[in-house]
Amino acid sequence: MEYVDSSEELAMPSVISDRHFHDEQEAYAYVEARVWPNGPICPHCGNADQARIRLMQGSSTRIGVRQCNECRKPFTVKVGTMFEASHVPLRLWLQAIHLVCSSKKGISANQLHRILGVTLKSAWFMGHRIREAMRTGGLAPMGGAGSIVEVDETFVGRKQGMEPKRGWAHHKSVVLTLVERGGAARSFHISDATKEQIAPIVRANIARESHLMTDEARRYERLGQEFAKHDAVDHSREEYAYHDRKTGTLIGTNTVEGFYSIFKRGMKGVYQHCQEKHLHRYLAEFDFRYSNRIKLGVNDVERADRALSGVVGKRLTYQTIN
Ligand SMILES: [Zn+2]
Repeated sequence: MEYVDSSEELAMPSVISDRHFHDEQEAYAYVEARVWPNGPICPHCGNADQARIRLMQGSSTRIGVRQCNECRKPFTVKVGTMFEASHVPLRLWLQAIHLVCSSKKGISANQLHRILGVTLKSAWFMGHRIREAMRTGGLAPMGGAGSIVEVDETFVGRKQGMEPKRGWAHHKSVVLTLVERGGAARSFHISDATKEQIAPIVRANIARESHLMTDEARRYERLGQEFAKHDAVDHSREEYAYHDRKTGTLIGTNTVEGFYSIFKRGMKGVYQHCQEKHLHRYLAEFDFRYSNRIKLGVNDVERADRALSGVVGKRLTYQTIN
């Protein structure tokens, strides 16, 4: 059947046509509204008294410059954020954030470089800073009474200087992921899939009142007893998800496996794997998109706005990334 655009589609402007993606003044206003929801705050002295902050105007003034009447220093919304040391226009940053947030499997530095017209080096740097903005830390435990949290590990990529051996995963990096059914995902790069590495993360990140779902592996046996309930499926015996006869609850780790399937397709297809030292940032990216997905009521625009609110205090320099 031939595809015909409906008039409704033609009448709907594309997200990418929004003015803040093309006009630098609009881009500043967009970022300011999100970073300073209650008006500008001086990043030098913390002054938030709007009567003591003045917008500098005049033909020679750069966009968005304010003067603080307390400490007498000028500032823009970029100071103290991940945009600070960048020469890339803010409107291109907003395009990049939108692209990373709305592509299911991520977007490579090469793609960003071609789409935005920035250098490959800048594109690579922008990608890492956006991942850093998506990184959340020190969050409250996941799950709780009536919630199911699935835990699993996977192996990705290849550690530097390690030759692959058939049937042996020692040359790969280990990832531990916790996924709350109907909720968020949190992933961790660990050095080994051992009880010693896994237990402290599980304890610190999952509420004890939760129902834990894991692999049958012995490393979860004792740990599982610390939670309200623990069920497991034995993958080594090719046992797969099934419904509990009494409660109807699906016993298994299909949710976290689904997360890994997107993550692996992205790492293999889009990012062509990464160096081990950068893995935590890619995990943050996939966790972020998963935890802010459409099914949870977060659309592309809202997701990009949430990433944007994470730019404060994420001042990565080129050196810290390398
Ligand atoms: Zn000040």
